[in-house]
Amino acid sequence: MTFQEGGSFNSGRVGTRSGAGRGLAIGGGGIGAALVALVIVLLTHGQADPTQLLQGAGGQETEGTVGQCSAEQANTDRTCRLSATIDSLDTVWGPTMQQEGAEVPAVWSFKDSTDTGCGQASAASGPFYCPDDKSIYLDTSFFDDLTTQLGAEGGPLAEEYVVAHEYGHHIQQVTGVMARANRGGTGASSDSVRVELQADCLAGVWAGKAASTVDPDTGVTYLKPITHQQLETALDAAAAVGDDHIQAQSGAGVNPDSFTHGTSAQRQRWFTKGYQGKSIASCDTFSASSL
Ligand SMILES: [Zn+2]
Repeated sequence: MTFQEGGSFNSGRVGTRSGAGRGLAIGGGGIGAALVALVIVLLTHGQADPTQLLQGAGGQETEGTVGQCSAEQANTDRTCRLSATIDSLDTVWGPTMQQEGAEVPAVWSFKDSTDTGCGQASAASGPFYCPDDKSIYLDTSFFDDLTTQLGAEGGPLAEEYVVAHEYGHHIQQVTGVMARANRGGTGASSDSVRVELQADCLAGVWAGKAASTVDPDTGVTYLKPITHQQLETALDAAAAVGDDHIQAQSGAGVNPDSFTHGTSAQRQRWFTKGYQGKSIASCDTFSASSL
């Protein structure tokens, strides 16, 4: 999944966090950190670089947002790629959000650990969606592992797929799928597996639509059409390295062992169904007799 030349992204939607989680307000887009920075600039009469001061505070969490990126940067730089992927996801799912009267999810890229509405997340948590604060959490070490295993080509593909899958869980949340599903079971045809395969399918819907939807700001489509080879690489990657999970409020921190997905073949099949069908209707894993 390669971003189209001429594309430009400035969603400012991806928040970044590094350092220990300190229970900062979720979804504020770094407003707290910006205020602190402003105070520092005022106190020092503009002589100090607030970013350096914040980072030098020792043990504190720092926040920021990803700024303007070109398509070329999105294809080579991870934070730009996250921003561009979210930008295109917002556009593709905009009509669904409008229809449901819902907001887009908050998105946090974090390093080491962070506080979430579902408990403390660490690098071992992997990427996940938290329904309680309607936020996507992406730890950078997971993406480092992807790139180590898959190289410069496969890593980015897998990253985009994982982000689109997590966004799919948000779609399930706002459309009521999550509430209707019985998340307790873990068998091969359980609701848990059907929820996960549907999120894969919704990721496919995004890839299909992003390759055919023209960004009104730039006049070019978000993505180049995906090749079969790219599709296989992305899905193998996600299956090989690890997985996400939907967290319920547990009070005991994020638990990485509480999730169930379908087989790699099933995940690939449903992603492809979404990619070709380009609609939520093509992702009805709950009515499917065979997954
Ligand atoms: Zn999932």
